Amino acid sequence: MTLIRLIQFLILNITSEQSGQVKQESMRRSLVMSKKFQLVRLFFGVLGLTLQFFTFAAAQEMNVTLSIDEKRPYELTVTGSFKQERPLNESHVLAFAENVAGVVLPAERISKPYARDDQGNALQLVTTPRCCIALGKIVDFSYIVDLRSTYRLRDAAHVSWLKDQTGVLMLGDLLPQEFKPTGKIRNATVNLELPNGWKHFSTARQGPSGTLVISDLDYSAIFVGTGWRSSQFEVERNRFTVVTGGNFQVSYDEIDSRSRAILLDYSRLFGELSGGNYLIAVYRPNLATGEWAADTRGRTALIATTEMPFKSQTLQQLDEQLRHELFHFWIPNGVSLSGRYDWFYEGFALYSSLRLAVRSNTIRFDDMLDTLGRAFSVETSTGLIQLTKERYGGSERELYAKGLAFAFLCDLALNISSKGKRSSDTLVRELYQTYSDRAERTDGNEAVLKLLNSYPELRPIVGEYVTETKGRPDKQLIHAASLFDNSGLDLMTSNGIKKLSVRSKLNSRQKAILDKLGYNSWRKLVKDSK
Ligand SMILES: [Zn+2]
Repeated sequence: MTLIRLIQFLILNITSEQSGQVKQESMRRSLVMSKKFQLVRLFFGVLGLTLQFFTFAAAQEMNVTLSIDEKRPYELTVTGSFKQERPLNESHVLAFAENVAGVVLPAERISKPYARDDQGNALQLVTTPRCCIALGKIVDFSYIVDLRSTYRLRDAAHVSWLKDQTGVLMLGDLLPQEFKPTGKIRNATVNLELPNGWKHFSTARQGPSGTLVISDLDYSAIFVGTGWRSSQFEVERNRFTVVTGGNFQVSYDEIDSRSRAILLDYSRLFGELSGGNYLIAVYRPNLATGEWAADTRGRTALIATTEMPFKSQTLQQLDEQLRHELFHFWIPNGVSLSGRYDWFYEGFALYSSLRLAVRSNTIRFDDMLDTLGRAFSVETSTGLIQLTKERYGGSERELYAKGLAFAFLCDLALNISSKGKRSSDTLVRELYQTYSDRAERTDGNEAVLKLLNSYPELRPIVGEYVTETKGRPDKQLIHAASLFDNSGLDLMTSNGIKKLSVRSKLNSRQKAILDKLGYNSWRKLVKDSK
């Protein structure tokens, strides 16, 4: 049996036994490699090839050409070369992402892999569903990615796709990954070869001869095709390009002006963004009414959304999507924090978005209370850090609901103890100001817990809601009840749904807290509409 056949034999036999478990594992991670790599590593060991441990620090830099042939406008040919020496265990492998934000990428979308060593000799490749292994060092490579297979609504916001001469290239799922992800920021120079008449948009810097300099592969998206329209505006020192695809009831001006207003408001609350170039893409897939998915990656926000039956509802939905996604330009994408602290930035994005909607009279104060009440209806004893780990394994709804409830309780606690001088916005601003300009990354959970625990009034709720693996819902509600009591709010349960309401009799302190929460905006709206 030749060496290649031996590897193939081992891989085929072992992975087929393990495939069920591999799939389950992979669902829990956002941008991950297959567990099969661990098996592949094992084979190298079996075959006596040296494996280093992963202590190297070098960034994996490459030059790539991404080309689309007009006769096959659903396929991407990737041709490239590694420009830095890769560690031995990496250098024999072309590895591909397995799933992104819960979207599983079909292995068969990658075809015709080809590789050469530094002498220009073609290398024989052993192909597993998620990677190609060569017996020599891979220097040049090419393969084809079929981008039709990943076209569904959720995919339209999270992974690469090409349809009707329009699409998005997300380099994180298109280019070779690290054999074992180290979390290092990887960069590349990209040359685009597109059919005549196709445009492209991205936040990437222009390099020599029209190339794009991508500073972080996993957070970059390039919009390509004939179906995108674009416009630009500036907010403070940053430039925002709005790219839209598909026919909308709402005008492009409305999308621009809503985005601008939201960005101005968040800038005032949290501080100016400092990225320079940002991109907001709103894309309308051909799907049933009311469905949507969104993702904010680096300095690019992508909202894939259908419309509602009426224009006013569509505008409201779009407003909500923008308020949420644009928040992420600050947290997590504007700070040097690493790891999975989704519980914080998803909860605070939802809550900040609700507060902004009340302030701008987009929703009524009562609508906000209604949403918050529903968040308390989703009861789970699992703590937020643990829920984050289980996010893509079916806990997303609990994570969002509990994260929102937690952000609201933080807002109440801070408002009460500071007599209205501090709020949930104070926390977001402090986190952004502390970590936005740092070169070194800090662990996100560590940084956020340090910040929250610096306020003694937040410590009891942090303990119950965040760090406890299994908290006690009754204990959590006791903390919430005392905060509601101080704010003039009641939380009642009817038919299993919790409802928050303002008490009929309020003392002056309760009125002051409610005013801070936007109770005034509600009164103003009623007055204006009379
Ligand atoms: Zn979010």
